[in-house]
Amino acid sequence: MTFSSLGLGEPILRAVGEQGYDTPTPIQLQAIPAVLAGGDLLAAAQTGTGKTAAFTLPLLQRLSQGKPARNARGQVVPRVLVLVPTRELAAQVADNIRDYGKHLPLRSMVMFGGVGMQPQVDALRRGVDIVVATPGRMLDHHGQRNLDLSAIDTLVLDEADRMLDMGFIHDIRKVLALLPAKRQNLLFSATFSDDIKALANSLLDRPQVIEVARRNVAAATVRQTVHPVGRERKRELLSHLVREHNWFQVLVFMRTKHGANRLAEQLRTDGIGADAIHGNKSQGARTRALADFKSGKLQVLVATDIAARGIDIDQLPLVVNYELPNVPEDYVHRIGRTGRAGAEGQAISLVCVDELAFLRDIERLIGRSVERSLIAGFEPDPQERAQPIRVGRTVIGGGKAGGARRADAPRAQGARGDAGARHHGRARNEGQPRRDGSSSRSGGGIARRNAPRG
Ligand code: AMP
Repeated sequence: MTFSSLGLGEPILRAVGEQGYDTPTPIQLQAIPAVLAGGDLLAAAQTGTGKTAAFTLPLLQRLSQGKPARNARGQVVPRVLVLVPTRELAAQVADNIRDYGKHLPLRSMVMFGGVGMQPQVDALRRGVDIVVATPGRMLDHHGQRNLDLSAIDTLVLDEADRMLDMGFIHDIRKVLALLPAKRQNLLFSATFSDDIKALANSLLDRPQVIEVARRNVAAATVRQTVHPVGRERKRELLSHLVREHNWFQVLVFMRTKHGANRLAEQLRTDGIGADAIHGNKSQGARTRALADFKSGKLQVLVATDIAARGIDIDQLPLVVNYELPNVPEDYVHRIGRTGRAGAEGQAISLVCVDELAFLRDIERLIGRSVERSLIAGFEPDPQERAQPIRVGRTVIGGGKAGGARRADAPRAQGARGDAGARHHGRARNEGQPRRDGSSSRSGGGIARRNAPRG
């Protein structure tokens, strides 16, 4: 099955091809025709299944076939609203929309809390077809009359379970009351609690129900180890390990493109053959690096999560998390690169004090603790204190408890549910225990009978 048989137009197919996708994932196969047909959708899918493209591709297709919506002043106002729980996810979804829609004359924007309102107001004034937003900030814009919702004909709730966990139910209800009654609703959730079922029942009209298999199973054949290390000594430790064990074909993960570039450079300075692969590199450069890596010419390939997902290399002997991901599912994807098809693989994480909360989240998701092993001469200084971790201008974790901002700063505290209050001041990614002590995203295995009947 190919993307072209799913009813998507040439500009989208071209963009998808440029992303390097050739085969639709299972959720894309099911969701794309369903969304194109215009009905409501209830999809049980987690990060890593290709769910974002599953809704954005058909929505871009539908938008491109229609006319822009305009208000009385002639400004283009949004037709699609995508609500997400966190700013990281908002940025990711918006990036995907930009990538997939790059050959279409459509405009999209992202709005989330914790950053200035004005650039978002300016973007709205210039006109947008698609808004990706966290609920709090979206309501702020609506309250200040920056955002006209009267032309919204499709609402997407992405990671709805997480939104409810974060106490956004009141905000979601408020948003629903502001939208035109006649619209298409798409609800994506990793798990189906009673709360999600209640939301789906009230929101969706005879939805098509789609589910795809859970993917958060850390491969049993992967040996996982954490090497605790000082923040500033990771590079030395990595070079030491590569030399000491004469490692080849090591895939090293970083959070940012900039970090990936810098590390590759530093490794080269240390005399280790290394290159970086990420979205800012030309397709040619990426292909070359990958070919050198596969052939063994390049000892170390440094990649960001996004770049790594697009590359087809399986059964690597070794994956190194130079930085732990703040999204625990990314850890599972990363280590899934090794130890496939029964081959023994190894996943090593260099973890500094800033990342301990990420490690706790990961261990909760995979349901076990990862063995710690100190490397002589690289033991972390017990006096070292956690510092905030920034990706661009966003603080994603680290620092003292309560030091990092939560994903979408709460506006009216009293208006939120208990869970919202409990999460105040801390991002989910900081290892916040849930009400039931589990991770809502490790649930998987969603039974069809759990879905509301149409
Ligand atoms: P998501 O589940 O939406 O977070 O997507 C997971 C990752 O898979 C993203 O990095 C996408 O770029 C990538 N992806 C989505 N669809 C495909 C596809 N059909 N083929 C290969 N990669 C894909």
